[in-house]
Amino acid sequence: MAARALWRAPIAEIVVPTLLHALPQLQPRPEHQRIAALTLLSLTDGQPLDDWATDPNPVLRRIAAQHLPMGNGQSMTPAIAAMLHDVDGYVIEAVLRRLHPLSDAAAEAEFERIAAERNPGWLCIRCATQNQPGRYSCSQCHVVGPEPADLAAALLTGTMTRPRVILDLDDFDD
Ligand SMILES: [Zn+2]
Repeated sequence: MAARALWRAPIAEIVVPTLLHALPQLQPRPEHQRIAALTLLSLTDGQPLDDWATDPNPVLRRIAAQHLPMGNGQSMTPAIAAMLHDVDGYVIEAVLRRLHPLSDAAAEAEFERIAAERNPGWLCIRCATQNQPGRYSCSQCHVVGPEPADLAAALLTGTMTRPRVILDLDDFDD
């Protein structure tokens, strides 16, 4: 009888509370946390996005950067503009990819600023190590991190041709 009631319950009623409970516990596994958050997003019509835009967790801020409305095509929303100043390089990269092609002068000025600045720090999506600003590959697992400065420069000049290296093999000690 109980199993039958469960079967009839909408999937969101069962899964959403479970995912909300699991999300903070997945902090040490950023890639799993990202998948759980994306699933939660799909079951809640994007409701958490506004909160995630300013969440202390860069995994959630990156998802907000990828999914929040961008504005009317003429200008960035304040939330999107704020995320171009994020302390995590992955969040900035996510916004840059969506802002291109440039639609307004403010966006272009931001591309130029980011292209000229040192890359910010980043949380490794693979091993959850917090990497320092300017760090090319993860200090723990050597996965190559985000490079918003390079990305902004390439998008500005239309030279997005270089394939991304996934793992920096030169950085292994052994
Ligand atoms: Zn790592």
